[in-house]
Amino acid sequence: MNRRGLVAFIVFAGISLAPIGAHVVADEQPLAGYSAESSRAERQWEDKFRAIPEPDKIRGYMERLAARPHHVGSPYDKDNAEWLLARFKEFGLDAHIESFDVLMPTPKERAVELVDGGPKFVAKLQEPVVKEDPTSGQTSEQLPTYNSYSIDGDVTAPLVYVNFGVPDDYEKLERMGVSVKGAIVIARYYGSWRGIKPKVAAEHGAIGCLIFSDPHEDGYTQGDVYPAGPYRPRDGVQRGSVADMPLYAGDPLTPGVGATKDAKRLDLKDAQTITKIPVLPISYGDAEPLLASLKGPIAPLAWRGGLGIGYHIGPGPGKVHLKVKSNWDLKPVYDVIAKIPGSVYPDEWVIRGNHHDGWVNGAEDPLSGQSAMLEEARAMGELLKQGWKPKRTLIYCAWDGEEEGLLGSTEWVETHAGELDKHAVIYINSDGNGRGYFGLGGSHTLEKFINDVARDVQDPETKLSAWKREQLRAIEEAPGDKKQEVRQRADMHAGALGSGSDFTPFLQHLGVASLNIGFGGEDGGGIYHSIYDDFYWYTHFSDTTFVYGRALSQAGGTAMMRMADADLLPFDFGDFAETMQTYVKELKDLSKKMQDDIREQNREIDEGVFTATADPKKTYVPPKKQEIPPYQNFAPLENAADAVSRAAAEYRKALEHANANGGTSLASSSLADVNRLLIESERKFITQEGLPNRKWYRHQLYAPGFYTGYAAKTMPYIRESIEQKEWKQADEGVVVVAHCLQDEAALISDAAAKLNAAH
Ligand SMILES: [Zn+2]
Repeated sequence: MNRRGLVAFIVFAGISLAPIGAHVVADEQPLAGYSAESSRAERQWEDKFRAIPEPDKIRGYMERLAARPHHVGSPYDKDNAEWLLARFKEFGLDAHIESFDVLMPTPKERAVELVDGGPKFVAKLQEPVVKEDPTSGQTSEQLPTYNSYSIDGDVTAPLVYVNFGVPDDYEKLERMGVSVKGAIVIARYYGSWRGIKPKVAAEHGAIGCLIFSDPHEDGYTQGDVYPAGPYRPRDGVQRGSVADMPLYAGDPLTPGVGATKDAKRLDLKDAQTITKIPVLPISYGDAEPLLASLKGPIAPLAWRGGLGIGYHIGPGPGKVHLKVKSNWDLKPVYDVIAKIPGSVYPDEWVIRGNHHDGWVNGAEDPLSGQSAMLEEARAMGELLKQGWKPKRTLIYCAWDGEEEGLLGSTEWVETHAGELDKHAVIYINSDGNGRGYFGLGGSHTLEKFINDVARDVQDPETKLSAWKREQLRAIEEAPGDKKQEVRQRADMHAGALGSGSDFTPFLQHLGVASLNIGFGGEDGGGIYHSIYDDFYWYTHFSDTTFVYGRALSQAGGTAMMRMADADLLPFDFGDFAETMQTYVKELKDLSKKMQDDIREQNREIDEGVFTATADPKKTYVPPKKQEIPPYQNFAPLENAADAVSRAAAEYRKALEHANANGGTSLASSSLADVNRLLIESERKFITQEGLPNRKWYRHQLYAPGFYTGYAAKTMPYIRESIEQKEWKQADEGVVVVAHCLQDEAALISDAAAKLNAAH
């Protein structure tokens, strides 16, 4: 599901910095969590490891895995799982396939047409074969263009253009006097995760939803289109799930439990994550005549896309007929799970994952990441043969069914929740991979750790470290007054994780500290979830020599080894405490801004500002006056964040003490107690009650936004309550989150005391 950012350009001319190279042992700092001696040994193993992955091998894996369409339920999906299993075994890992039975709708009937007034038009709903592209013609095996978990429906109604179809857009529509009640909406992709669009449309009374790729975000406005360039062609369609994943991830019929053979399943009609109205995705080729048929108000400037038409809002005057009917079968998913047992702490698991299923041939998403992870596993196998013995257990997971809703990972996590709660140290995810910058997101207790890993991986094109290259990009992109902070901060900020890939069940359901890593940003992409995301496209327009694939193998493997072999787990609370302070400040600012905005708007309504600027020829609905939000008490949260800051300082001091004299005390076996606390540190943010109205999401720091989907909401209980003007609920959230932070502070203090006692 991996969503790449828009292309960023940075000119590297004139920058000359020492490349990373062999380690200078004499003046080197030991790795965090290692004594000087164990650090030297670890560095030697890591250097050996990073020399093993080969770009041509990664290319070979991708070519084989992308040779045919491999979505859930297809013959080649199973074939790929078995092939991956054989590779893991061949590399010397202890591997097996674990299977689940999940709801996987596939379309039987699809129609979009313009009827009743205006020129007749029937949408193609089909991506044409491209003659240069050898797998684009595998039509009999390709899934049709559709949005999985759209409810069945057959509706005819006037069309309304709703921009991205997010809540703000509906507020604007209301002011324009346009209602979508009883209408079919047409929304463009981007601006939110796609599943948000039909959800919000249905909340506003729409009876159908079309989602199209506008060339402004995804097509010729970006650059040359496929096959001349990498961008989305006229008839290219983005498939994708529209399940209400911010409610719960995984199989819609088995929320909270593994979808094993004999699992208790909901009736289809009771599955909460299936859309309330029918949805289909369309190309800009199919969208253009529909949009061109609209009359009514002209769309606001920011709503107009890249098509050569005037963008009107509607409704109508013509009507659109939309029909979707699916087979609602259970299909098997095949997770491939491979282990390397730990030699000292076999019950502490360091877990790595990337999905293997695709919407069609899925070369970029997910095989670019999957192939790199497989090569990482091969390199681990080579190290084992050379005598390396990881202290902790490593687990490699090739997930199935990610695209429909993180099915393979979620069902596995739910099935093994008890064991994972006890044993999982961290989870490291990747998904698609490409040329460019190293992206690092995840738990802030791991921010320092992943920064250190990125310093030891070389960027293939600039020969700088992956860390340095990403830092230069961050400096370039920072606003003027923030550049100095980016330059001077020891670590780059890790982005908080929302959703959109397989880390979600680990982090947000179980509280396993997680990372999401990958390279990208320099390769234009317009083939996302289409039949053109294949080996031909990838080898012409993305990481064509697979050197970024190798860099991902190196980054993922370095992180796995370093976490697996550490004497003291390299969790850190300094960056974490700083980030918590930032979140608290953001929430206070948000609360104040809500008050100020509503106060100002009420004043403008009283003054008649809205009637004066309205166009007399149009129906215009001024906003209604709203109640001023009450002042909120953030003191419990501020006190808790301060407690975390103090505890983090204690831990840092204990660590410095432990590191003195070559860190010999780090070799002490009494660190087991400290490590246990460190593993539990992320679990402290899990509450049994979960978030308001979505109890599957139990992490009190990170969640996908209920109305954004991909983008994270941090301290979501409080933040979303404020945004949704649920003031009482926001107050409750302050108490809940403050309690978690106080628990965390106590745990960190305890860890500091135990660390002091260990030497
Ligand atoms: Zn993906």
